[in-house]
Order: sequence, then C-alpha cells, then structure tokens
Amino acid sequence: MLKPSEVQAQNQPVELPILQEKQVSLAIKREDLIHPLISGNKFRKLKYNLIEAQNGGFDTILTYGGAFSNHIAATAYAGQESGFKTIGVIRGLDLPDKWHENPTLKLAHEHGMQFHFISREEYRKKENPLEVELLKALFGPFYRIPEGGSNVLAVRGCEEILMENDAYFDVICTSVGTGGTIAGISNAADSKQLVLGFPALKGDFLKEDIRKFAYKENWELRTTYHFGGYAKVTQQLIDFINEFKHETEIPLDPIYTGKLIFGILDMIKKDRFQPNTKILAVHTGGLQGIKGMNMKLKKKNLPLIQI
Ligand SMILES: *Cc1c(COP(=O)(O)O)cnc(C)c1O
Repeated sequence: MLKPSEVQAQNQPVELPILQEKQVSLAIKREDLIHPLISGNKFRKLKYNLIEAQNGGFDTILTYGGAFSNHIAATAYAGQESGFKTIGVIRGLDLPDKWHENPTLKLAHEHGMQFHFISREEYRKKENPLEVELLKALFGPFYRIPEGGSNVLAVRGCEEILMENDAYFDVICTSVGTGGTIAGISNAADSKQLVLGFPALKGDFLKEDIRKFAYKENWELRTTYHFGGYAKVTQQLIDFINEFKHETEIPLDPIYTGKLIFGILDMIKKDRFQPNTKILAVHTGGLQGIKGMNMKLKKKNLPLIQI
C-alpha cells in the first residue's frame, strides 16, 4: 500500500500577473499528484483508518457517499490495494439501475466495491445506531468509516500534509467539505500561521464540526465561495477552471479546488492580503470527479471542463 507519511507533495509556485501586481506569492501543494485515484486528502484520511481496520481484524470496510464522491472512489481503490472487501452505502435510490453510467461508481465497482443504495431520507439517518445495526445484519461485521472519511484517525493523516519547510508560508488555504482536512492542517500549522478554509457547500454547521478535531485557534472560514452549494457550478466557475489550467497547466476540480483557487484569487484582487504575503494552497485532489461533472454539464448544454 502507498504510505502517505512517505509521500511528499511538491509546492508548485504559481505565476500570474495579478500576483505580481498585488505583490503576493502563491504556491500550490500538489497533493493531487500523489495518485490518480486515491489522490489528495482522501489518501491521507484513509491511511490510519486502514491500519486500524487491519489491527482490529476486519476484512470489510463500509463507508458512505454520494454518486460523485471522491471518498467512495478512494476507499474502493485503497481498500482493494490493502486486501479489504469494500461496501459503499450510496445516496440515491435512482442509481441502482444506472450506476454504471456514473464514472465514479463505475470506477469504484471496478475496484471491487459492493453498493448498497438508500434514499436521501434514509441517508440523513445513517449515523443512527439502529441503522448501523441493520447494515451489520445485512453484511456481517465491518470497519465503518463516516461520510467523507472524517474521524480522528483521518485528521491525524491530514496532519501529515504540511512539511517542516511549509513554516515559510504566512497563510495556508484549503477547501472544506466535512472539515477533517482543515482540522489536520490547523493542528500541524504553526500558531502564527493563518489557516483559511473555503467551504464547498453552504451552511453554518461546519465550524462546530471543525472544532471537534482542531485544537488551535489559527483557522478561519471564508464562506462566500460555494457557488450555490455542494457540487453546484456556474459557467463563471467552469470558465475560471479552464482559464487557470490554460495559464498554469494546473488542473482543478469543480467541486472543491476550483472554488478554493477562485476564492483565493478573488481575495487577492480585493486586497484582502497584505503585500508580501506568502500563500500556500493545498490541492486536495478530486480530479476523478471531472468526468462525471462533464456528463452533467453536457446535458445542460454548458461548456465542459477541459481535461
Ligand atoms: C473531500 C474533499 C475535500 C474536503 O475535505 P474535508 O476533510 O471533508 O473537509 C476537499 N477537496 C477534495 C478534492 C475532496 O475530495
């Protein structure tokens, strides 16, 4: 199995006229390059969970996600690599007949994941102990990883994203979904560094979730860059992702990292950073989701994300 602690992602400096004009620097930590499928933070989040499952003698991993979930894709792949059976509890009762049209689920299935589809309503109740017992009755014993992979062990894995020489940066930026990644980065960052989170979804619940795992006060959220909510995109965002790729050759995903980098550059334009600020943005991966998003965009006759 790949060992995240032994994986060091490179920080790639970004060169754009706006950065020069505003006299700030931006580098992107290319966690997306760790692996094509278990890239970025999902890779970090699984590491200690898989070890724990092995130590506990489990042969099956069960976890949750929607149809485009990077976590589902990563769990299927990493689970198979480590010799586990994997079960994905998937939100959406419309999916059983057409999951093979969905690139993420197709990929997960190719890597051995068995699916259990439930309604959106059931999905909301999934943390209920009774629901978990029902799953055990169906599938036998399993090691359970929550949605998005966020738990104490996942946060510990995310504490390995930053390296010693990242102390050089003043501000560290990351996308936020369930909050595990920013918690790990915050814990590993210096108290004098500012960790900025850019939620990819709407809602006020995030701060509480992050506080469950983050023990420093060095983090803040910038909540206006969700583009309408989780997995929602606009033409402006798609155009931005394509333009950024064209100018820097760095691919961004539409659900998380596109919104993150858009937000950072918008803040730079609006002079929200002092001159000479050194900014590091963590590329948390998610590129496997582009295919699925492009299928949605095509149906709506919107421009596609260039791969
Ligand atoms: C899951 C994910 C996130 C969000 O991570 P959390 O720990 O849930 O906040 C960010 N970026 C990408 C690419 C992801 O797949």
